[in-house]
Amino acid sequence: MPRIALIADIHANLEAFQAVLSDIAEDRVDRILCLGDIVGYGPDPAACVDLAFTACDRIVLGNHDEAVVREEFRFSFNERARASLDFTADALSAEHKHLLATLPDRARVDGVSLAHASFGAKQYEYLYNDEAAERSIRGLRTRIGAVGHTHLPSVVSGRQGLAGVIDDLRHAPLAPNVVTPLARDAVSIVNPGSVGQPRDRNPDASYAVLDTDALSVQLRRVAYDVANTQRKIAKLGLPAMLAERLLVGA
Ligand code: ZN
Repeated sequence: MPRIALIADIHANLEAFQAVLSDIAEDRVDRILCLGDIVGYGPDPAACVDLAFTACDRIVLGNHDEAVVREEFRFSFNERARASLDFTADALSAEHKHLLATLPDRARVDGVSLAHASFGAKQYEYLYNDEAAERSIRGLRTRIGAVGHTHLPSVVSGRQGLAGVIDDLRHAPLAPNVVTPLARDAVSIVNPGSVGQPRDRNPDASYAVLDTDALSVQLRRVAYDVANTQRKIAKLGLPAMLAERLLVGA
């Protein structure tokens, strides 16, 4: 039954988003689920919001999405991110902002829990280390969870033991194209990497196909016209580093 395309961190990169959706369209998937951060950093927020709300079956709220509709939330971002958030807020219509404002923090679809960053108490905690991964696993109420936020494709798995102890914690990067089995006796949190701003030194747009029956996940990478996105970023006067990092995937 469900084969699910997981996409995350589109970050207003229309070229990357369109390339990923074309790649998904060639496959037989039952759903497209989006783990948040449709906007922020990139040059095409309005088109990406429109496309996300058309193409995706469910979307959860990302920290950049939230910061666009809640200005007081922007203080926690670095200068480059803030500059792009101010641009994004200007570029979006009231209707776009309303769409973002109505996104839920979490969702559950086909038995898969969705959040932007973590299932732990801290909504936007990065799952960079074992402690953060454990907190997220403790908060997970289904066998499979999916998050974005770090822009690093990976799978975290572990068994929920007694008194909140997590046994057999594993945190592994996902390799492209390999069908990676998920643990049968543990819970797993899948991160499909970032569509619009990969940070694992591979500039190709990243997403994943999750098969909840076979209990497996396959990471996909899709080349897109990076130079075109870079030109748009430069033309808008957004920080140059936001364009440069797309070429190296960092
Ligand atoms: Zn992000």
